[in-house]
Amino acid sequence: MKTVESKTALREALAAFQPDATVGLVPTMGFLHEGHLSLMRKAREECDVVVATIFVNPTQFEQGEDLDSYPRDARGDADKCADAGVDLLWTPAVSTVYEPDHSTEVKVSGLTAGLCGQSRPNHFAGVTTIVSKLFNLTQPDRAYFGQKDYQQLAVIRRMVRDLDFPIDIVGMPIVREPDGLAMSSRNAYLSERERKAGLCLSRALDAAQLAWNAGERIPSQLRDAMRRVVNDEPLARIDYAEIVDPTTLEDLTEQNQPVEQALGVLAVFIGETRLIDNARIDEP
Ligand code: AMP
Repeated sequence: MKTVESKTALREALAAFQPDATVGLVPTMGFLHEGHLSLMRKAREECDVVVATIFVNPTQFEQGEDLDSYPRDARGDADKCADAGVDLLWTPAVSTVYEPDHSTEVKVSGLTAGLCGQSRPNHFAGVTTIVSKLFNLTQPDRAYFGQKDYQQLAVIRRMVRDLDFPIDIVGMPIVREPDGLAMSSRNAYLSERERKAGLCLSRALDAAQLAWNAGERIPSQLRDAMRRVVNDEPLARIDYAEIVDPTTLEDLTEQNQPVEQALGVLAVFIGETRLIDNARIDEP
């Protein structure tokens, strides 16, 4: 595996591969876990060349969020990338990625208004701008993203469609710890007690699924089943917990009608740490 830091070195390394090689891109913010590695392994299976990036992108953090304390492990991450079969790893500095007078943004409207976009109003513009830059720099045939960030995946698919990026977006299932906690770099912030409390997210989704299995189809009832579980956890504070349309991310709880498809989505503060999770709850 080759690791590069400048844009020139990245372009040169990419130019050294066969012109007709299929390139798979896996963008990450590092502190890698099995969730990230599942994307890299899938890319390894499907592509001739696997490019991974590790960049804690400042523009997708809100003021006062955890940009400065975001966990990092450059050496451990490089070893994990090499083991997962990455060919080329780009680990740029912030000053490499953004010019001091950087002034262009890519924004997706509509899909970014609710859920995470509500409490993090600048987040998705930061994501779509950096992902556009990564697409332009690496020119991948495919790019791999996790369903853990379900709204992000939907927003990136929309951007790719609307801006005609010639890239297949591959969405990969959420990788969980054995007890159900969705893997996240931010889990490193949790104390032992908080780590246990963090299980309320996956348990809330299970509760909605159980209600569905018992025949409940009214979105607000399914949502309340989720909220009850989180509200019972003293260390947890709901940012949002909703039942949405899996395609449009539209809030389904406004209409008091039975639904055929439903996605449970939630963001919950456990102490200071904001965790997200989601699941289709319409599985048979
Ligand atoms: P991040 O480093 O948090 O920006 O995540 C980089 C990529 O890994 C994104 O596409 C995430 O959706 C994906 N990812 C993060 N956690 C998981 C997980 N537990 N399972 C699957 N994919 C994940």
